[in-house]
Amino acid sequence: MANKYEPTIGLEIHVELKTKTKMFCACLNDPLVPTVVGIPTEVGKPNINICSVCTAQPGSMPVINEKAIYSVIKAGLALNCKIAEHTWFERKNYFYPDLPKGYQITQFESPLCYEGKLDNIRIRRIHLEEDVGKSIHDKGDYSLVDYNRAGVPLMELVTEPDIRNAGQAKKFAQDLQLIFKYLGISDADMEKGQMRVEANISLNMGTKVEVKNLNSFRVVEKAIEYEIIRQQAILEEDGKVIHETRGWDDSKQETFSQRIKETSDDYRYFSEPDLPPLEISKNLIKELQTEIPELPFTKKKRFIEEYKLPEKSVEVLVNFKYLADFFEGAVSELKAWLESGKIKTDINPLIKLSANYIITEFPKFISKTEEINITAENFAELIYITFIGDISSSGAQEVLKEMFKTGADPSQIVESKNLKQVSDEGELSEIIDKIIKNNPQPVEDYKKGKETALQFLIGLAMRESKGKANPNIAREIIIKKLK
Ligand code: ADP
Ligand code: ZN
Ligand code: MG
Repeated sequence: MANKYEPTIGLEIHVELKTKTKMFCACLNDPLVPTVVGIPTEVGKPNINICSVCTAQPGSMPVINEKAIYSVIKAGLALNCKIAEHTWFERKNYFYPDLPKGYQITQFESPLCYEGKLDNIRIRRIHLEEDVGKSIHDKGDYSLVDYNRAGVPLMELVTEPDIRNAGQAKKFAQDLQLIFKYLGISDADMEKGQMRVEANISLNMGTKVEVKNLNSFRVVEKAIEYEIIRQQAILEEDGKVIHETRGWDDSKQETFSQRIKETSDDYRYFSEPDLPPLEISKNLIKELQTEIPELPFTKKKRFIEEYKLPEKSVEVLVNFKYLADFFEGAVSELKAWLESGKIKTDINPLIKLSANYIITEFPKFISKTEEINITAENFAELIYITFIGDISSSGAQEVLKEMFKTGADPSQIVESKNLKQVSDEGELSEIIDKIIKNNPQPVEDYKKGKETALQFLIGLAMRESKGKANPNIAREIIIKKLK
C-alpha cells in the first residue's frame, strides 16, 4: 500500500551569512546567540548590536553590504546556478514585533541566483534578505524583544519539489551545510539557528503543507516522516489536506497547525525605494569563481582515487575540512621524506595509518574550536616511527597525547618517557634464548603445533623486556630459533 501515495517534497532553507557587519548597517553581525529557548545569557546581552537603521528610526537609510552579495553569488556558483545580471531588493510588508520596520527587505521577482542543481535536486532560487529580531514570550505575562539579530544578512534557498523522501531531504540539507562551510560563507550551525529548514510536503501532487522551524537534521527527517503518515491517513479516510503552515512539537514528536497560509498578495511586495538596483558584472563573477575552494564532493572523489582510502574514512575527513587539510599536510611531509631517501617504504601504509590516527585519535584532543595544535611534520614523524615499530601502538597514543599537550617533538617524548621498543635483534635474541632455556614445556608444545604456546612465549619476552620488546620481532625470532 505504501506506494499508493507518492510524496513530493520541496525545501526552503534560510542561512545566516558570516559577515562582519549586518546587511544594511554597520552594526556587528553577532546575534550573540542566546541559549536554548532564546533567553539571553551573560554572553547574549540583548539589544547591543543595534542602530537607527536596524531598529527603523525615521529618516535612517540602509546601505548594502557587498560581502553578503558576494557570499550569495558564491553559493550560487557552487550550486550550479545562473547569476542575475540585473537585480534589486523588495519590501515584504507584514507586522510582527520582531520586525521593527514593518517590512522585511528581501528579493522577490529577481533572485540573485536561480536554476541551480545539487545532485539531482533542482534549486529554484537563492536570494538575499535580512533576518528579524527575536521575541521572547516565556518570561511571564509580558514579552521581550531582542534586535541583535534584526538586519543580519540571511540567504534563502528554495528547491524545486524534487525530493521524494525524508532521508533524501536530510541528506540534501547536510550536503548544503557542508558546502556553505567550505565556502566560508556561514557556519550554518542548526543548533544556533544559523541554518533553518522549512519543508513543503504533499502526496500525489495534492495540496502541500509547509512545516516550519525544523532546527536539526534529525527533526527535518522526523517531521517529514510524520507529515507523510498524517496526510496518508487523511487521504485514506477520503478527507482533504488543508493548505496550512505547521510546526514541529519535539516533545510530542508530531506536527501541529500554526496558521492557514498567506499568499504573496498578502505581503504587498514592491521594490525597495531606498536602495539602488544591482548590476552584477561578468568580471565580478569570474573573480568570485576563483575564490571557490575544492568542494566536498570533488574532494571525496579525489581522496578515494589519490589516497586509496576506504570511503568511510574519506567521508569523515571530508566532513571536517580542517582534518582533511591536516591529513594532506602530513601526507606531503611523508612524501617529501620518501623522496629525500630518508625513509624507504611504500607510501600507502603510511597514508592509511595517518588517516586512521587522525580519524580515531584526534577527536580525543581537539576542542570545538577545530584547532590542531601539533604540526604536520611532527605528526608525520610519529606515524613513521609507529610504522617501523620503534614504538608500540599504545606508545604512539601516549606520544600523541603528549604532543597535543606540550607541542613537543615525538622523538623527545619517546626519549623522555622511555617508550622505545626493543627491536634490536641482538638484545632480544639474548632474552629469548633465556626464555627458551627456562621453559621447556611450552617450547615442546609449540613444536607439536600448539599456537597458544607461541603467544605464551612472546608474552614472556614482553614481560622480560618490561613491555618494550617489539612483539612482531620477538615473534619472528622465537619462530626462527625453534625451527
Ligand atoms: P508557494 O507559492 O505556496 O510558496 P511555491 O511553488 O513557491 O509555493 O513553492 C514553495 C516551496 O514548495 C518550494 O520549495 C517548492 O519546491 C515546494 N513545492 C511546490 N509544490 C509542491 C508540492 N506539490 N509538494 C511539495 N512541495 C511543493
Ligand atoms: Zn544596525
Ligand atoms: Mg523568505
